[in-house]
Amino acid sequence: MAKRKKVLIIYTGGTIGMIKRKRDSSYIPFDFNLIKSEFPELDRLECDVEVEAYDPPLDSSNIGPQIWSKLARTIGDNYKRYDGFVILHGSDTMAYTGSALSFMLEGLAKPVILTGAQLPINEIRTDAKENLVTALQIASHPDTPIKEVGIYFEYKLYRANRTQKVHADVFGAFNSVNFPALVEAGVHLYFRHPTPPDAWENKKFRVFDKLETAVGHLRFYPGLSTETMDSILLHPKLKGVILQSYGAGNLPTDKALIDTIKRSIDQGKLILNITQCMGGSVEMGRYATSSMLLKAGVLPGADMTFEAALSKMMYLFGKFPDTEVARQLLVKNLRGEMRAERAYTD
Ligand code: ASP
Repeated sequence: MAKRKKVLIIYTGGTIGMIKRKRDSSYIPFDFNLIKSEFPELDRLECDVEVEAYDPPLDSSNIGPQIWSKLARTIGDNYKRYDGFVILHGSDTMAYTGSALSFMLEGLAKPVILTGAQLPINEIRTDAKENLVTALQIASHPDTPIKEVGIYFEYKLYRANRTQKVHADVFGAFNSVNFPALVEAGVHLYFRHPTPPDAWENKKFRVFDKLETAVGHLRFYPGLSTETMDSILLHPKLKGVILQSYGAGNLPTDKALIDTIKRSIDQGKLILNITQCMGGSVEMGRYATSSMLLKAGVLPGADMTFEAALSKMMYLFGKFPDTEVARQLLVKNLRGEMRAERAYTD
């Protein structure tokens, strides 16, 4: 008989395990015992499950780089003992955590599935049970082709670093517009896109947990003032800025803007251009309104999500003190996070 798979659930908090506070009926995080008592069927799963629960559990608005590092270390410390990992996490910042982990877990060859819910597990119409059971089944599947960080929600597993939260209240809260779902859950689990870039298949697993957070963000909009623009692009403490431009990577043909961008790059900052659109890619040079950015030295972020671009910059600045190395890797496909010809194999 095949050996039973072992999965570690890491319960960080989120709506899945929240209860209503009597005073004002707002949801507050609750401990993992709520999940266990509301969901005794967990014991019927065909895998062995162990749980590490955060105390206190967190609303995911309170999760950032420090907790990403803690999660990465937990997976690192337990990597050999388990066949897969399920992280229960609030949906609000799940795409950030998933994207960051995809970079921090180098050479990952096991499934790490983030999931949560839009309604707590003790509510009658909850989506928590399906999300949790299927995430566990994917993480413990006998010959799972999933060897990466994924987000499972409402019958679909997405590549985490391609995913964004797109809806605040429907059950299908996530989408990955630029990349197909890895698994669709119907009567069977349909593995649609099992192949990760081979770059990380043959690498030894290790955790990198020292992120550099000196990364800024400027989302362009009509009427953006020079002061606001300068305060971010010329901020003395930032090492890089994610510039969210219009459409295929365009910004106004404004000399003052280009001068500021050039000064920012001369200061040694990396400026990465991604689109404000939900789907599609930056193609710098397609319009005159983007070729000037390319000439100034702005880097093309292709079809990366904001969550992926941000955490990739934090990871690369943390890992490579030499900005030139970070600059080269930023525009390469490291973990399937962007459309690119070649994957990174260091
Ligand atoms: N505010 C919650 C959180 O992100 C929402 C959720 O879990 O869906 O923790």
